[in-house]
Amino acid sequence: MYKILLLMSFSITLIAQNFKGQEPIKPVDTRSRPTLGRCKGRVELGDVIIENKFEGGACEQPYLDSTGAICIPIAPENEPINSSPWYAFRISTEEHREVEIKLIYPSKYKHRYDPKWSGDRVHWHQLGGKSSGSEYTFYLELSNRPLFVASQPLFTSSDVYRWILDLTGSEPLKIGNTPNGLPIPYFEIGNKSSKRQLVFLGRQHPPEVTGHKAMQYFIEELSQLPEFTDNYHALVLPLLNPDGVDAGNWRHNSRGVDLNRDWYEFHQDETRLVRDFLKNWVQGDLIFSIDFHSTYEDIYYIVNPDLKKGRTRFVEEWIRTSSKHLPDYSPHIKPLYFEPPTSTAFSYLFETYGTEALVFEIGDKTEDEFIRKKSRASARELVEILKKY
Ligand SMILES: [Zn+2]
Repeated sequence: MYKILLLMSFSITLIAQNFKGQEPIKPVDTRSRPTLGRCKGRVELGDVIIENKFEGGACEQPYLDSTGAICIPIAPENEPINSSPWYAFRISTEEHREVEIKLIYPSKYKHRYDPKWSGDRVHWHQLGGKSSGSEYTFYLELSNRPLFVASQPLFTSSDVYRWILDLTGSEPLKIGNTPNGLPIPYFEIGNKSSKRQLVFLGRQHPPEVTGHKAMQYFIEELSQLPEFTDNYHALVLPLLNPDGVDAGNWRHNSRGVDLNRDWYEFHQDETRLVRDFLKNWVQGDLIFSIDFHSTYEDIYYIVNPDLKKGRTRFVEEWIRTSSKHLPDYSPHIKPLYFEPPTSTAFSYLFETYGTEALVFEIGDKTEDEFIRKKSRASARELVEILKKY
């Protein structure tokens, strides 16, 4: 048993060290492309009812295989696409019983997000299962009370609007609407007459819920710090891709495009709206911008320090002082932007406004408690470091 444990911890360490993060981003064509029509509906398979007609719901037509297992095919909105296979459905049975469920991926994609279930859509429970090729099998106890099953906890456009209302006491404002007519919400925190400005962005990529949670904790903490709110003016754009989030997309917006590759040619409404809004909003010095995301493990992507000649450079010091609040945590920092084109939001903000710019990435499996501690410590340390620059 002891040997098995040793082997397990060894392999976990290896996995952690193997994560190298992204290579420099190559430009891609970001003109609109057709997407698969998402089938949203309700299916009965014997006494099993499966439904995906809700914000974030996504799977193809379910069926029973020859052994009676419930097969849930999962497909991307279009291709080529980054492998972040999102799924979410609601399932129930007439009688209380355990069912076998198989997630079926297209052969070139692998299972990435272990399923979570929830009865109330608020509290989520992790499920275990087994991968085999492009299938993932797990078991779930069902009854006539429908359960949500999803790749990550559902946090869709309605949840973001409600979060803004709870935090600010006002209905969210919008910078404009998406192609599907959904508002892209924003709000401001701090002192509107301050010329020291910051911008925080999130959710360009639909499945990246852990990154969204980090942004929430970070903003909640910042908005409670008078040293911040008296002296700085921040813009928060927590949901840049509501169409993709509500459709249950793997990566793209409703026009089949990765928004975080469109910050050079601006073919998409969402990126153009942010660009144009910022032109008016930035009245002073944009001192910092953070774009929140999720990936396999926690990592910070920065602008190559050699490009920052004569500009403010505090981001690495800030990451290190924030990380001291987290026992046994050593931050993974990697330069990601070296030269134009500025495909991504953070490189665009760096080149356009000379701002210190960061991509704050949280791991798919990072525990919520760790995200909370990290994000809150980051907010408090940001106030400290800004005093020096
Ligand atoms: Zn992302």
